[in-house]
Amino acid sequence: MPAASARSLQVITGVEAMRSAVRELQRGRQTVGFVPTMGALHEGHLSLVDAAAAECHRVVASIFVNPTQFGPNEDFTKYPRPLERDLELLRERGCDLAFVPEAAEMYPTGYGTSVDVGPVAVPWEGAARPGHFAGVATVVLKLFECVPADRAYFGRKDYQQTLVVRRMVADLNLPVDVRVCPIVRDADGLALSSRNVYLSPDDRHRALALRQSLVLAEKIISGGERNPLVVRERMLAHIAAVGGVGVEYMAIVRDGTVEEVAEIDGPITIAIAARVGTTRLIDNVRIG
Ligand code: AMP
Repeated sequence: MPAASARSLQVITGVEAMRSAVRELQRGRQTVGFVPTMGALHEGHLSLVDAAAAECHRVVASIFVNPTQFGPNEDFTKYPRPLERDLELLRERGCDLAFVPEAAEMYPTGYGTSVDVGPVAVPWEGAARPGHFAGVATVVLKLFECVPADRAYFGRKDYQQTLVVRRMVADLNLPVDVRVCPIVRDADGLALSSRNVYLSPDDRHRALALRQSLVLAEKIISGGERNPLVVRERMLAHIAAVGGVGVEYMAIVRDGTVEEVAEIDGPITIAIAARVGTTRLIDNVRIG
């Protein structure tokens, strides 16, 4: 017998079975929250499950390592896949349904459709990872079709991804309410990521430079600095002093966009991507 507090988790692999399960709940006037993930779950993902549970009657999480959002030289094959542990974490967290589709059903032989959301997907992550956002937008749209939920939950950790998803939902009139939740960090400030398991202890220590540089930017800007170039230089100097961190980009953009600011005169987001050893990490902060 499960403990009184434990909820049962139904695991569904078929697209049609998943869609009918959600429709059935909705016919019974239950609202459904959806958390799409690639698994290797951590507190960042689980915070999205919590947010969904707080706002919806039922929660569905998907676990699917989507091949089309990985570049040819990226970590698709070695991406961690601890499925049993993930399901246990979802169960403990009160998630009701887990959608774990097969790649063969998600990408039928001969598939050729892809979603291009336009300019918001072009710079920064889009430039560093060609094809990445087409892969993301396409799989998210497909997942929304499989899990026709009322609300879908995404983490602000993937800042540009949230803009891509919101753009697609608006442009295609998708009937889902997109919610964006805060970044969850380890006690030392490192943003939680499924890729943090690749970091050696030394790399992990160096990786703190990302968050430290974002905190430094907040301090400099609250001290009155308005020139993004000055902020950028100070951040890069900090990261260089730590060493071993290869910055791919550092974007200082108007919050809610991917457009660089010439002057800091309103809310901004600073987003960084960097390599630490062989691991690629991203982080960001909203300021103002
Ligand atoms: P992933 O499994 O990496 O595709 O991430 C699934 C979802 O979890 C995405 O919406 C991510 O933005 C979100 N997520 C990943 N890491 C974090 C984090 N540290 N804090 C909050 N959300 C996160």
